[in-house]
Amino acid sequence: MNLSEIMDTLPSLKATVDAYGLMAKKSLGQNFLLDRNITDKIIKMSLDAQGKKDFSDDYVFEVGPGPGGLTRSVLSQNPKKLTVIEMDERCIKIMEDIKSKVGDRLEIISGDAMKQNFALMDAKPRHIVSNLPYNISVHLLFGWLKSIEAFNSMTLMFQKEVADRILAKTSTKDYGRISILSQLLCKVDKLFDINPNCFVPAPKIWSTVLVFRPLHSGLTEKQISNIEKITAAAFGQRRKMIRHSLKSIANIDEILSCLNIGNNLRAEELNPLQFLQIADKI
Ligand code: SAM
Repeated sequence: MNLSEIMDTLPSLKATVDAYGLMAKKSLGQNFLLDRNITDKIIKMSLDAQGKKDFSDDYVFEVGPGPGGLTRSVLSQNPKKLTVIEMDERCIKIMEDIKSKVGDRLEIISGDAMKQNFALMDAKPRHIVSNLPYNISVHLLFGWLKSIEAFNSMTLMFQKEVADRILAKTSTKDYGRISILSQLLCKVDKLFDINPNCFVPAPKIWSTVLVFRPLHSGLTEKQISNIEKITAAAFGQRRKMIRHSLKSIANIDEILSCLNIGNNLRAEELNPLQFLQIADKI
């Protein structure tokens, strides 16, 4: 039997949740997706966006598999190996049941995803897939963006409000630090929004699935730290002109004039490339 056929022999996700008495814990950001149609759609649309047939050449990492809906959908696409990282021991037991059927193709790490460095595990091509725990989603994204050259794609579900900020264009109210770093480093495509009623328990807000693909070989550590520094200062005082908010960091008047950037602009009026140009001059 191939992996996809093995997944079809598993009890339904609902039966799995019932058998393990898996009541969602708010502290772990648990909102489960128990509909295989939706998890399959996420993975198929992500593969399509990448022009890929399946994951047969790839190493995939999943943060927070929970009861295993997305896990089943990834395994059905035949990865070289799927590594799951989960903090909830109840979900680790569910993963162990799946492992007893698929063997070494599934690696289980019991622990905190914030302490793992996927960029150093296995080999390329690496992909990250996750319905992210909402309380640590932005922290995890920033960490992965900093080593984006190690990954071929990241298929991630966020609260819609966070996804809107990631996708936001210059001169809009949602535009900020997370839009700039994401768009400088990746092509970000929206797959679709998901209604709260699709989750158990239903959250109050909609979710959105995004696919990130690296645009180039990444930025240097210095470029990233400079971008973090200037975007923190510029968006910390969003209404101020950047020639004022960045005064303490650099000889900003000279830099703006040299780059031909208007010295009366506010942070949200500068595009991601202009932030990179300023970062390269400090
Ligand atoms: N993937 C499952 C799904 O779609 O139904 C569960 C998604 S749920 C939104 C987030 C999952 O992340 C939960 O299973 C939770 O236990 C796990 N989690 C929360 N914090 C974590 C952390 N720091 N490291 C690893 N997993 C974590």
